[in-house]
Amino acid sequence: MGKGRKKQDTEDGQGTAPAAASAAVSSVGYPTIDVEEVEGVSSLTAQKLREAGYLTARDVAFASVKEIAEIIGSEDRAKQIIAAAQKLIRLQPFITALELYEKRRGIKRLSTGVKSLDDLLGGGIETKAVTEVVGEFGAGKTQICHQLSVMVQLPEEKGGLSGKALYVDTENTFRPERIMQIAKYKGLDPNEALKNILYARAFTSDHQIMIIDEARKLIENENVKLVVVDSLVSHFRAEYPGRENLAERQQKLNHHIAQLLRIADVYNIAVVVTNQVVAQPDAFFTNPLKPAGGNVVAHGATYRIWLRKGKENVRIAKIFDSPYHPEREVTFRITEEGIVD
Ligand code: ADP
Ligand code: MG
Repeated sequence: MGKGRKKQDTEDGQGTAPAAASAAVSSVGYPTIDVEEVEGVSSLTAQKLREAGYLTARDVAFASVKEIAEIIGSEDRAKQIIAAAQKLIRLQPFITALELYEKRRGIKRLSTGVKSLDDLLGGGIETKAVTEVVGEFGAGKTQICHQLSVMVQLPEEKGGLSGKALYVDTENTFRPERIMQIAKYKGLDPNEALKNILYARAFTSDHQIMIIDEARKLIENENVKLVVVDSLVSHFRAEYPGRENLAERQQKLNHHIAQLLRIADVYNIAVVVTNQVVAQPDAFFTNPLKPAGGNVVAHGATYRIWLRKGKENVRIAKIFDSPYHPEREVTFRITEEGIVD
């Protein structure tokens, strides 16, 4: 029984009294406290929560009532437990803008390995955000995902995050051989580079959602700093065709994106998803192509990069829908060495 226990661990491994929890904030912004320390959580409940991937008070604090209720079988108790977890990690509904500024300073950047692309993104791919790479077939989305899975392993001074990648492949286009090729050019041992990528093939949209639930158990233990979903929407589109299924599809997709945003924020990691483009039949004056997934993806993704094919191996990238990036374009090339300026 954990109810009476007072021992707590922060992420940095320092034991702290509850009162000091807010002072001993980790890089992620909230202390790591075992789920069993949450008021109202028995060891049996803690076990159920852990099995479902909720290891810490923080995981529970950011969960929805529905998610927890499904695990413990009562909505009322779920509400109580979530409230207790939020209190325990001192999650507050309001913070000052200064606190937000401090929190945002914890954000790290992962280099794409391409200077112009990094510049376009204001220094690289941000942690605590979902970055969406959109483009037609062959635009280079999967190549970028491969490159990032290598880049993340580099030390920070080389643009990486000294961590592992977790790669969710929905289209069976992940190629270890390509990773080895890129790793060699980045000065990494190709076999080590492969070991540092945790790979999951997602066979259905449900499976894809389940993999991200499972991923939560791995992120901290395995030092995962990048989660890739390539591609985000393909299963959802294939399984829920037509207008009649649109509402259900969008609801599920919304849940999936919320899941991704949450792991990005809670664990301070980078999340990169790819997305297809679909024809916009009634577009006469605007771009005839648009990203799949509609408003749900548009609102969910923090940053959106649109890739276009240029001549031969040249590709053009542009940020769109961003609140503070200017709309401009850069080019890069796809080569044997990976993606390069
Ligand atoms: P998307 O995922 O957007 O459909 P990809 O990322 O699979 O597109 O990009 C495919 C492109 O990458 C092709 O033009 C292909 O020629 C190029 N490409 C893939 N592997 C290599 C490589 N080893 N060397 C050079 N170009 C490559
Ligand atoms: Mg692809």
